[in-house]
Amino acid sequence: MKKTLLAAAATIALTAPTLADGVQINQLHRYTSGHTAWNTNSFWIEGDDGVAVIDAQLLASDARRLATQIKATGKRIAGVIVTHPHSDHFGGLAALKDEFGDFPIYATQGTADHFEGTHKQMLASYQMPNAFAEPLDERLVMPTNIVSGGDTIAIAGISFNIHDLGAGEAANNLVAYQPDLNVVFAGDTFYPFAHYYIGEGHIDGALEHLAFLKATFPADTYVMAGHTDPNRIASADPQIGYIKRFIEVVKEARAAEGALDANGRLTREARGAAVTKLMADYAHYDDFSFGSQTILTWNSFGVEAWLMAQKD
Ligand SMILES: [Zn+2]
Repeated sequence: MKKTLLAAAATIALTAPTLADGVQINQLHRYTSGHTAWNTNSFWIEGDDGVAVIDAQLLASDARRLATQIKATGKRIAGVIVTHPHSDHFGGLAALKDEFGDFPIYATQGTADHFEGTHKQMLASYQMPNAFAEPLDERLVMPTNIVSGGDTIAIAGISFNIHDLGAGEAANNLVAYQPDLNVVFAGDTFYPFAHYYIGEGHIDGALEHLAFLKATFPADTYVMAGHTDPNRIASADPQIGYIKRFIEVVKEARAAEGALDANGRLTREARGAAVTKLMADYAHYDDFSFGSQTILTWNSFGVEAWLMAQKD
């Protein structure tokens, strides 16, 4: 019996580091949406008197389920960090506020600047026909607290070091490092082993962000990804490989005889062939229920725009 108690105490000691100011981090939790809402992750950490949340889901139903899990601790939301301005990471804020009232919302200026535009675009693209079996929440909730790279913020006594990485997967991406857990919350800067979205064409940024993660944190540091399972930083390599393979295939396709249309872009046929080639290379990668062809086609446009801009 005594042995069991000691073992239990050891487990608690491992999972509940005490911060310098005596605040306990009890546990790191993860909530993941269903596949139709793109397996989107929210993470939350319990402090003594509240919970720090990273990313706020797309759908109100997911945000409410997340709220139910948080409420089971008896704690309030002390603040939410939004990693980047894509609706699958902030669309659930209004529903969270319904459940908890006001709380501070932390984001970079670059992310705050794109909230409204992305929100409108999502409503225009996905409200009709309804892609999610529930309407998107039309209420836009904006960040309240602007953070900058180099800031250290505290939410419920839990500290996060903010790195503003600029444009990459989105128009702006931050990563937040939590030193006591030695964990990086990377949003969509990092999700290996799945079709990584580079459709916005910030290809240099996407590669630089992964290089930054590798250069800044030890290879065995765990990264909490915006989608897919947490992985160690070393898993950035296959993701870098995915982006580089994409560039290679699109470049190759564009070089072929008769591949370009009057605007200098891949013809429908040539693009389709390039996408099919990439689908075969990454047949085992998750497509978040878009259908691989959809994400890969978006990505082909992003990579192509980037290649065309390089020639100027
Ligand atoms: Zn996302």
